[in-house]
Amino acid sequence: MKRIAILTSGGDAPGMNAAIRAVARKAMYEGLEVYGINYGYAGLVAGDIHRLDIADVGDKIQRGGTFLYSARYPEFAQREGQLKGIEQLKKFNIDALVVIGGDGSYHGAMRLTEHGYPTIGLPGTIDNDIPGTDFTIGFDTAINTVLESVDRIRDTATSHTRTFIIEVMGRGAGDIALWAGVAGGADDIIIPEHDFDMAHVAKRLKDGQERGKKHSIIMLAEGVMSGDEFAKKLAEHGDFDARVTVLGHVQRGGTPTARDRVLASKLGAYAVDLLLEGKGGLCVGIKDNKIVANDIIETLENDKHHPDMSLYQLNQEISN
Ligand code: ATP
Repeated sequence: MKRIAILTSGGDAPGMNAAIRAVARKAMYEGLEVYGINYGYAGLVAGDIHRLDIADVGDKIQRGGTFLYSARYPEFAQREGQLKGIEQLKKFNIDALVVIGGDGSYHGAMRLTEHGYPTIGLPGTIDNDIPGTDFTIGFDTAINTVLESVDRIRDTATSHTRTFIIEVMGRGAGDIALWAGVAGGADDIIIPEHDFDMAHVAKRLKDGQERGKKHSIIMLAEGVMSGDEFAKKLAEHGDFDARVTVLGHVQRGGTPTARDRVLASKLGAYAVDLLLEGKGGLCVGIKDNKIVANDIIETLENDKHHPDMSLYQLNQEISN
């Protein structure tokens, strides 16, 4: 093993830069040459590949986004694109690849593995929706960003005695809504992983208001329905004068938290250790507070991400 490359793919997440830095610095520490690939799989296929030296990853640990840029490149789902990518890596004499991204990016890494190219996946997405890890790089920052907004919205909600529906990201996963909902004291949390009954939601809100509660907050995961649709359906059960806030892309950016930086640093360095041991075809993660590596094909085929549903029950019991 002499040369490795790194790419970031899919939605950007805070801590991706810290992960690139960790992979690069650890590899350099071990005497390897490191290459950066711009724009994810699109850049891989196009040969947008360049040498990284130690200074290139300096002053990056605290930055959001990814300095290697990211891209959506659906063509990489085709065999032709995958083989072209491997051809480019071979042209640069690169022995292994580290992919930092979400579920889709992991599928790209899995295909490279199936073609026999040593690839390791690092979980980088705010959604926390990847199997094989309890937490992804970027999730902690995202929930703290959401929480800051929830606290601000609560000030307004209290001042005007209003109900706010806050729509948060997560695609098909409810993790952001669950964690930020519990931390923000949301009256109810609506996620794809748990059915809800609008009459019951309305009753919770009414009970709170009858007790003299001045604010009501519903945390809604985007995978269930839009905030506007939810507000319309809620209105069928009473006059809540609900306002909708869609947090959108603010959840993606910003300075990574200490937790995300430390997780990125640990996972990045571990990926290099594995490659030095001659191990590819893996995805790394954190499970029960331990850094782990799993077979990427097996993980994607047989494992499924499950949010911590004890948070849902907890919120029903202690909020509202
Ligand atoms: P996030 O969940 O944070 O948006 P992601 O990695 O899941 O991140 P996607 O857009 O789903 O984001 O995937 C990123 C890229 O991975 C795609 O643009 C494509 O290049 C590649 N990819 C996705 N699915 C596959 C697949 N089935 N096979 C090969 N490559 C894939």
